[in-house]
Amino acid sequence: MSNSNNNNKFNNINTANGKPIKELIKNDRRDFEVFLSNSFGKNVFIPEMDVFSSKCGCYGIMIMVRGVLIDEADVFKNRIIKKLEEISNNYGINANWIFIRIIPSSDDVISFGIRELCNMCREEYNSNKPRPDLITLKLAIDE
Ligand SMILES: [Zn+2]
Repeated sequence: MSNSNNNNKFNNINTANGKPIKELIKNDRRDFEVFLSNSFGKNVFIPEMDVFSSKCGCYGIMIMVRGVLIDEADVFKNRIIKKLEEISNNYGINANWIFIRIIPSSDDVISFGIRELCNMCREEYNSNKPRPDLITLKLAIDE
């Protein structure tokens, strides 16, 4: 069994629109990088984008970022939410929680997070304040 056969096997895993999912993630990573760079009028770097499933039942997307300040994310909050909702739609993820992760006592955003919260995490979110390094941009959980 050669490596190329293995690669072909994975290339056949398609999303609903017929594209390999890795191509979709690749395009969305680049698209979000261009979107942020254009929004802020400077070079923003997205080293990695991860689409994940958690053991608890949550689904989500984590997008690492270099070059975005908390204040900048706040100014373009609505545009960023809209863009991240579009990206979530590509994976069938309901973006009911969108947040940024920061380095406490710094001005830097280190990642954008999208989460489709499971029932357990919804309750957790309602009863406890989220971690201090997470700033909520959007929360839409209906009871
Ligand atoms: Zn969960």
